[in-house]
Amino acid sequence: MQVVSNRVCAAVDSFEPIRQFYFDSRYAERRGAPDICDFTFGNPHEMPLPGLVEAIRYHVVPHNKDWFAYKASEPELQTFLAERLTQELSLPFEPADIALTNGAMAAIAVAFRLLLDVGEEAIFSTPAWFCYEPMLLAADAVPRKVRLQGERYDLDLCAIEEAISSRTRLVIINTPHNPTGRIYSRDQLVALADLLDRASERIGRRIFLLSDEPYRRIRFDGHDFVSPAAVYPWTLISYSYGKVLLAPGQRLGYLALSPLMPSADKQALQSSLFATQMALGWCFPNAVMQYALPDLEGLSIDMHTLSAKRARMTEALEQAGYEVLRPEGTFYLFCRYPGGDGEQYWDALADRDVFVMPGRVMDVPDHFRISLTGSEPMIERSLPAFAEVAHAIQT
Ligand code: PLP
Repeated sequence: MQVVSNRVCAAVDSFEPIRQFYFDSRYAERRGAPDICDFTFGNPHEMPLPGLVEAIRYHVVPHNKDWFAYKASEPELQTFLAERLTQELSLPFEPADIALTNGAMAAIAVAFRLLLDVGEEAIFSTPAWFCYEPMLLAADAVPRKVRLQGERYDLDLCAIEEAISSRTRLVIINTPHNPTGRIYSRDQLVALADLLDRASERIGRRIFLLSDEPYRRIRFDGHDFVSPAAVYPWTLISYSYGKVLLAPGQRLGYLALSPLMPSADKQALQSSLFATQMALGWCFPNAVMQYALPDLEGLSIDMHTLSAKRARMTEALEQAGYEVLRPEGTFYLFCRYPGGDGEQYWDALADRDVFVMPGRVMDVPDHFRISLTGSEPMIERSLPAFAEVAHAIQT
């Protein structure tokens, strides 16, 4: 007899490739070994930012008897973030637009629970981060996947339009995009907003947009960033500090409503946020991370070093015959094997203790993803193996 719910069974099936990769694969056997080159997940490979450590150390010491009392979206932090977001995104955020969450994942889960009824559909573009689908299934919603298009993995607006049905309630956009590193331009977002306006009119109900932006501050070459919240009023933003601080285990983020949203819709969402976060299991950040937030807001991993790693790896991989999509943002490199069977390349790299995120877990088996959070010595150690494997398989 089936013990777990149907929705959880569906989520488990969808998550199986990545579960297997993490817990039950050649990578799982070697994960954590000291000399391997691990480019799989966006995890730190060096000591944390000193500013992060100092802030946590300071705020973990109780200043009063209520220090560790229940914490929701604390009003002073909503005010602080509204001011900062207003500056960063040039949109007039109000404190009540912001719900503090334990990371972007919680913000996404809250958005799904807030907006989607059983059987309603959410569209996202692939290749994509591997959690949208299981999270939608666990929310009793129906994922609708469309492909990104062309060599630069642009949004395919025709495919999105075709995927919209009378049950569509949500479209998810991830910019800067994991795994491709693309940042969508204002023109692309305006065209998407037009499309969603027309489609909402056609189906007789409003389609919302979830703009998943955890990599928003990790951009290269001064690349511009426009939030979809600036061009489509029915947008919710999910954000995480886990990327920019490279501390994904210290959960901190938020869900923010576009200030441009018509007030009736916005008030309905605002007044439902607390109950949704409570009902999902108290999706608020821990007290210490909330106190630390103002100290963390201005901190970032070293973009200069990240940029140098991007340049070094891109050049070396291209020279060895791999195709690399030069990322505009994120800390990932999205690469294509020189030709042939992706699994064969992955195995040959694993034989040399070099581990990359296999493209098959993102529906692109001839590609792989590298996390540039790997250290510089690790990158240098790995480069001969990448060259050797490309040479060995092609000849
Ligand atoms: N969205 C995308 C596109 C991601 O890549 C990730 C993490 O990898 C998340 C959301 C979740 O971020 P966090 O774990 O910091 O909540």
